[in-house]
Amino acid sequence: MPKKNVVILGSTGSVGTQVLDVIRSNPSDFNVVGLTARNNRVLLDAQVNEFKCVGHTRLNDIEDMVSAPDIDLVFVACSGIELFPAVMKAVSSGKHVAMANKEMIVEEGEVLMKAVRNNNVDLIPVDSEHSAIFQCLLGRDVEAIEKVVLTCSGGPFWKKSKKELENVTMEEALNHPIWEMGKKTTIDSATLMNKALEIIEAHYLFDIDPQKIEVLVHPQGIIHALVQFKDGSTIAHMGYPDMRLPISYALYYPYVKANSLPRVDLTDKTLEFYKPDSEIFPSLAFAYDALLRKGGLPRKLNRANEEAVDLFLNNEISFLEIFEFVESKIKK
Ligand code: MN
Repeated sequence: MPKKNVVILGSTGSVGTQVLDVIRSNPSDFNVVGLTARNNRVLLDAQVNEFKCVGHTRLNDIEDMVSAPDIDLVFVACSGIELFPAVMKAVSSGKHVAMANKEMIVEEGEVLMKAVRNNNVDLIPVDSEHSAIFQCLLGRDVEAIEKVVLTCSGGPFWKKSKKELENVTMEEALNHPIWEMGKKTTIDSATLMNKALEIIEAHYLFDIDPQKIEVLVHPQGIIHALVQFKDGSTIAHMGYPDMRLPISYALYYPYVKANSLPRVDLTDKTLEFYKPDSEIFPSLAFAYDALLRKGGLPRKLNRANEEAVDLFLNNEISFLEIFEFVESKIKK
């Protein structure tokens, strides 16, 4: 692969630091041109120093940086939607985008994907399930899809009864069995809101009808997505839960780079799949409903959930009240 000039938005966060880990192990493949951070100036300065690049925190500077002629790939590793204008600037400047930001797709998916198509750039999803779908769809026509299944670990609470969930603590909710992530995403996994947002994400990214998107709880976290086609064949994507896999995939796309990450070994393994309990976890229904009713509802759902998670992390509402809070906001 010719050396890629890369900009990373949100280089100090959970995904951003892992992107730099991958690049650090492959210094001859990438040239880090610029980094951005929202708050962590200390780490940003250290990264800028290490990669001998520029570091920005202001939107104007970031927009200029991503649209510079020599940039090949903009890696969107930040959370929140503050940098959405910079992502649009990158796309309209013809840059390929590696997309790890969920909120931008949920809130601005229609606008974003239209720009991606019009400017003929690649948008490579980094969310593991969507990276998996992307890979299952290579060489296939979206028209041929009958159904897409997103898998879900179930989070720390999936076998608990509603009664047991009444008194779960923040510490228990933050203890995710499979993935290591930031606090917000970890709570979203416990409520299945993460998967709800991923339904919306899949709808916009791949232009798939919501009724063709399903969710299965798969506690082992080895199969990340399955795509079932009209001809009765189903393609599944497997990999151990390690963000460096979808990160590397997006960094190198369309090239494939050898690495030494652990390989899937199915010997003596059991892979289980269960239907999610929609009584206890109404989140998935919120997502289908939001896509059906449209009119900015996906954005409303995302905002309501962000507010609810904040309240929960501040000990102001209980775990189950997250659902009540979100429901009351989107019913309005
Ligand atoms: Mn995911």
